[in-house]
Amino acid sequence: MASLGRRVDLVELLLSGNRRALARAITLAETGGEAARTLLRAVYAHTGRAHIVGITGAPGAGKSTLVNALAHHWRGSGKTIGIIAVDPSSPFTGGAILGDRIRMQSLGGDPGIFIRSMASRGRLGGIARATGDAIDLLDAAGFDIVIVETVGAGQGEVEIANAAHTTVVVEAPGMGDDVQTIKAGILEIADVFVVNKADREGAEATIRQLRALLNLGGAQRDGWVPPILPAVALRAEGIAAIAAAIERHQEHLRAEERRADYERRRVAREFQLIIQETALERARARLAGAEWDALVERIARREIDPYTAAEQVLA
Ligand code: GDP
Repeated sequence: MASLGRRVDLVELLLSGNRRALARAITLAETGGEAARTLLRAVYAHTGRAHIVGITGAPGAGKSTLVNALAHHWRGSGKTIGIIAVDPSSPFTGGAILGDRIRMQSLGGDPGIFIRSMASRGRLGGIARATGDAIDLLDAAGFDIVIVETVGAGQGEVEIANAAHTTVVVEAPGMGDDVQTIKAGILEIADVFVVNKADREGAEATIRQLRALLNLGGAQRDGWVPPILPAVALRAEGIAAIAAAIERHQEHLRAEERRADYERRRVAREFQLIIQETALERARARLAGAEWDALVERIARREIDPYTAAEQVLA
């Protein structure tokens, strides 16, 4: 079987660190379906080594600039970095978006760095599942650190926290911080706070607000107190301290034997997403297009409720 042969090659090339194979594998994962599952099955045993860092924050806070600076920093100490930029609002994918190309110019050419954008194009696939797969693929390809950068949008932030070992929340002064900093859930998910654009007025106030909120929230998770670190990502200032805080958190997870808990949480999320998608695919495969449409029509006419219809389809 030619196609199976190609897939085996793809897995081997990917595991050997071949970048084109990695890019193809991520595209396959984005598309979803049986081909993607075959691939992910084959690489799964090779995952579990990378430290996964989620970076989230409002658009314009300086996430991309910060990620670039962090990548440069870690490259200096010989670590390899895979970067996944998730943009759920973008219809583009496959590394084609503008920001990506600009980034490639600054980081490009270094085989120790791989950058990939993910957007919501997937077939049936949710972007969350595809992102989880991409993390696994970068992990299997041998990257020491996998950075997942997402636009903070409430749900998205919590999502990233569940997919990462260390979650970095990026704030910036003068972006309506009052609302932003108190945004529900943010205190619970941040392992490290970065107040970027510390060259701007208001950075001190943002840091104070965050500190007050953290003290108010009181609870430090598992003995970890999230540091609040200023940065001027544009000039690579404060980057070493942020990298050190991320590494300290990684050490903390290991020392407290918490990494396994985080890993279980990550895996549970992935498992759930895969079940959802697989169930949907099976359901759609079971019904011809016309049957599916007819069922939707009956739901719309209130002849059947969607819960009963779902059970019938999955039964
Ligand atoms: P993202 O949308 O969160 O990824 O933010 P970007 O990294 O694209 O940065 C948004 C804008 O803020 C860009 O014009 C950056 O050049 C600028 N920026 C990033 N970091 C800093 C900083 O530390 N200080 C200042 N003044 N501007 C910054």
